[in-house]
Amino acid sequence: MTENKFIATPSRTREILSKYDLQAKKSLGQNFLIDVNILKNMLSYAGINKQAGVIEVGPGIGALTEQLAINAHKVIAFEIDQRLLPILKEELSPYQNVQIIHQDILQANVKDIIKQHFDDGQDVFVVANLPYYITTPIIMRILEEKLPIVNITVMLQKEVAERIIAQPNDKNIGSLSIAVQYYTIPEIVMHVPSSVFIPKPKIDSAILRLTMRDEPPVHVENEPFFFAVVRACFMHRRKTIKNNLSRYFKGEIPSETIQQILQNCQIEGTRRAESLSMSEFARLANQLYSIRQNLQ
Ligand code: SAM
Repeated sequence: MTENKFIATPSRTREILSKYDLQAKKSLGQNFLIDVNILKNMLSYAGINKQAGVIEVGPGIGALTEQLAINAHKVIAFEIDQRLLPILKEELSPYQNVQIIHQDILQANVKDIIKQHFDDGQDVFVVANLPYYITTPIIMRILEEKLPIVNITVMLQKEVAERIIAQPNDKNIGSLSIAVQYYTIPEIVMHVPSSVFIPKPKIDSAILRLTMRDEPPVHVENEPFFFAVVRACFMHRRKTIKNNLSRYFKGEIPSETIQQILQNCQIEGTRRAESLSMSEFARLANQLYSIRQNLQ
C-alpha cells in the first residue's frame, strides 16, 4: 500500500466522507486524523511491534486503526457510532487482524476483552485519538480497571495533557494530575497542531504516553479514601487545605483533630493543595483514614 492510499491522508479521508455521505458528529468528538507521519510517530512512541496486542478507543473511519493493523499483531477497537461500522468493515477489509466492537468504551469490560483476545504474556497497549468530550472519564476508567497493559498512548487536548503531567506548585496541578501520576509515569511526547484533523478542532492537541507503574509511588491505606482526600483538598483551590478538609469532614472529624493531624504530618495547614507532593497527600490521607476508622 503506497503512502498516499492510507486512510490518514486528506484525499482519502475526504473521499470516504463523501462516498458514505458521512457528517462528522461533534457530539461524539469526531475529528479524523489526516497525517500519517503523526500516526507513525505515535506508534513508535507507544512501542508498537509485530507481537503487540492493541486496544483502540474510537476508530472513526479507521485512520489510526489501519496503521495499527499494519504494525501490530492484533487490534480490538471500540466504536460507539453505529454509522461507522459498515465503513470500517469495508475500508479495513484488507486487514485480517482487526476486530471492531460496537460499544461505549465507558460500558465495556476491557479486562475480559483482553483475556479473550490476547495471549498470556503478550504485550498489550491502549492507543487512541480520544473523543475530547470524555477524555478524562476514559483515562480514569482504564486506570482504575488496572488493566494488564504496558502503556496508554493517546491524542488529547493539549490543556488536559498539561494538567496531567503538572508537578507541585504548577498552576495546572489538580486531583487529575495526582490520580494519573499515582498509576503511571505521564509524558507529553508530541505536540499536534489542529490542522491535521478533519474537521479542524478549535484547540491544539498533544500525544500523551502514560507508562504503567509496577507499584504506586507511595503507600496508601485505602485508595478511594486517598483520592477523596486529594479531591477535597483541591475543592476550593484558593482555600487552605485545613479549611477544605474541615469542610469536607464536617460532622465526622473535628477541626482540632484535623489541625493535629496536619501537625503530625509536618504539613502547614495554611498551605494550598497545589503545593503538596504526592507523598504529603499520602501521609495525610493515611492518618485521616486511621483516625476516621477509630472514630467510627
Ligand atoms: N481514530 C479516528 C482518527 O484518529 O481519525 C477517530 C478519532 S475521533 C477523535 C473519536 C472517535 O471516538 C470517534 O470515532 C467517535 O465516534 C468515537 N467515540 C466517541 N465516544 C465514544 C465512546 N464512548 N466509546 C467508543 N467510541 C467513542
